[in-house]
Amino acid sequence: MNMNIGVIRGDGIGPEIVAQAQKVLEKVCAKFGHTISYTDILMGGCSIDACGLPLTDEAIEAARNCDAVLMGSIGGDAATSPWYKLEPSLRPEAGLLKLRKSLGLYANLRPAYLYRELADSCPLAAKDGGRTFDLIIVRELTGGLYFGDRFTKVIDGVETAVDTLKYDENEIRRIAKTAFDIAMKRGKKVCSVDKANVLDTSRLWRKIVAEVAKDYPEVSVSNMYVDNCAMQLVLEPEQFDVIVTENMFGDILSDEASMITGSIGMLSSASLNETSFGLYEPSHGSAPDIAGKNIANPIATILSAAMMLRYTFGLQQEAEAVEEAVKKTIADGYRSVDLMPRGEEAASLIMQKCDELGDRICERV
Ligand code: NAD
Repeated sequence: MNMNIGVIRGDGIGPEIVAQAQKVLEKVCAKFGHTISYTDILMGGCSIDACGLPLTDEAIEAARNCDAVLMGSIGGDAATSPWYKLEPSLRPEAGLLKLRKSLGLYANLRPAYLYRELADSCPLAAKDGGRTFDLIIVRELTGGLYFGDRFTKVIDGVETAVDTLKYDENEIRRIAKTAFDIAMKRGKKVCSVDKANVLDTSRLWRKIVAEVAKDYPEVSVSNMYVDNCAMQLVLEPEQFDVIVTENMFGDILSDEASMITGSIGMLSSASLNETSFGLYEPSHGSAPDIAGKNIANPIATILSAAMMLRYTFGLQQEAEAVEEAVKKTIADGYRSVDLMPRGEEAASLIMQKCDELGDRICERV
């Protein structure tokens, strides 16, 4: 297969971590007999410097012409970077919002996986025998409260702000199908999260999810209120496989889920539209504090590339080869700086620079 991949290196550590993911992809190609054509796409601060805009129409067109886009991260230090003296619509992050919107990326996938060897970085008390979990949050990304009508005005002499929360059945059906399709490729369990005891949108959500579930008899489905889900994620994250939820609940729960792994440099993400196109990027930002030092952890970006192999190209075996190579690298004791424990335990581990860790993973693909 030839894979036509757009590459947004972006700002800060972006170029360093994307280079490692590309190295791993090259190894996958050599091993499984695929080829890749890359198209470089400018977005973020580097695009502002080169073109005066965080994302040009040409860049959107270039992304549209690719099968998928692999991205590093964009943005800089808001306190010192001249990009943040521009009006909000011209700042680096505006480029990403515009790209998501232009490409109709309605489904955001955020896996949270706790490696046994990294269980010590999990802020939750370890269970006997060691804790691990492997869940994915499927968040609706283009509807709900963040996209509803809003206004602030004085009503009866009182300053009042209103945000509206609206979902239609088609928006819910689309994201529910995405979640069930993903569950079929994983543990065949979907937990739909809502607030159906209070909200009409949630009651419609629950009804449509139940309808979609009928087409997936192999998948077990449950419903959970969002407040309970926030609690359960901390109490027993092992119980979850796929969580599907609306935009704002997903925003909050996916950050919670990623932090209970305790290692921001490990967490991948994907944003998908109704075709097989996807934007794949790490969950973390551009880490300007460590940019250019070759010490960033490239694993989140490498695992995002693995998601691309699975979800855009349908290459399950190849995706697993990358994920297994990451697990093996961790199990063999290799760590980037952010994963190094303090104290005696560090003595048995081997600290790696960003590019060295990329090499160790390549060797294990
Ligand atoms: P950040 O995620 O960039 O950094 C937070 C902390 O985590 C920093 O100490 C950083 O050094 C560390 N860190 C992050 N990624 C790491 C990695 N791969 N390896 C090792 N350490 C890592 O968050 P921030 O500092 O709040 O944001 C910096 C910039 O990134 C801002 O401009 C922000 O808007 C942008 N941002 C971009 C995206 C994106 O591109 N999608 C997402 C979040 C933030």
